Amino acid sequence: MSRIFSGIQPSGELHIGNYLGAVKNWTQLQHEFESIFCIVDYHAITQQYDPERLRVRRREMAVSLLSAGIDPNVASLFVQSQVPEHTELAWFLNTITPLGELERQTQFKEKSARQESVTAGLLNYPVLQAADILLYRADLVPVGEDQVQHLELSRVVSRRWNAMFARATGKTTEDGAEEREEFFPEPKPLLTPMRRIMGLDGQAKMSKSMNNTIGLLEPPESIWAKLRPAVTDPKRIRKTDPGTPEVCNIFHLHKAFSSPETVEHVAVQCSTAGWGCIDCKKVLAESMETELVPIRRRAVELAAYPKAVDDALAAGADRCRRLARETIDVVRERMGF
Ligand code: SF4
Repeated sequence: MSRIFSGIQPSGELHIGNYLGAVKNWTQLQHEFESIFCIVDYHAITQQYDPERLRVRRREMAVSLLSAGIDPNVASLFVQSQVPEHTELAWFLNTITPLGELERQTQFKEKSARQESVTAGLLNYPVLQAADILLYRADLVPVGEDQVQHLELSRVVSRRWNAMFARATGKTTEDGAEEREEFFPEPKPLLTPMRRIMGLDGQAKMSKSMNNTIGLLEPPESIWAKLRPAVTDPKRIRKTDPGTPEVCNIFHLHKAFSSPETVEHVAVQCSTAGWGCIDCKKVLAESMETELVPIRRRAVELAAYPKAVDDALAAGADRCRRLARETIDVVRERMGF
């Protein structure tokens, strides 16, 4: 069975953008692949942060993931800092990664442009990301289309390490070259089917920093308070104006939460001015409730029994530490330790 690895920052409670864009897909993939899901808290400290909030957010993320359907009996869910081999491998990979390659990373250029003082941690972030994936010799990494380029460095590092430290098998290939046994697979992207979820402002990707999100565990009244004023088709000013569903963010949320029949009904009602946007949003709120009620219920159960969260994370870390140790033993030996 192929192995997948995916990481998520401990940003606190999941919002529906994270859920639809990544985590909902993970809950299906966990039954098709050997799955490793990691709360990447070492990544979270490459920018300014509050240690107390980090502790809270790490916990909230674990509760959200388990409530959303990550099953610790099927997949391994753990916190990155519980497996110190991540940083050990990152160090080894740092030593074979040219500085220029890191300075050219788009994410580094964007983030460093916004900061007065840039840390080495921010520069080396993609190497830690490569270490996260290579540590488990993952075959596939679930990503959205806009994240495929972030995986490229991991692929390059894997090829480079193999070229430098692969062991000769003692055989020759058909064309007479020395056959070498490669250790790290080149991780491939596994494209997430869901398109990028826009925020309620209809302007930017849904993100906590843009304050345009709906929390996965938010109560229905609070969801409605956010949905009601959410941006729709900007050309639909009056109820009697026909709309264009494809340009409306609410329609895309219907596609994620409503049945195919309802989505079809929404498209017809919108394009014929058969109803107003508030009617449309009320139907969306109902569809969301159908999906979110069981998730909220699980979160309440986990809050009442926190040991279940601790046990799930500890079991995941134990399993991953064993796999990580196997990789590190080989890497250390091949690199002269
Ligand atoms: Fe968007 Fe629905 Fe309004 Fe059409 S009717 S513009 S899909 S909110």
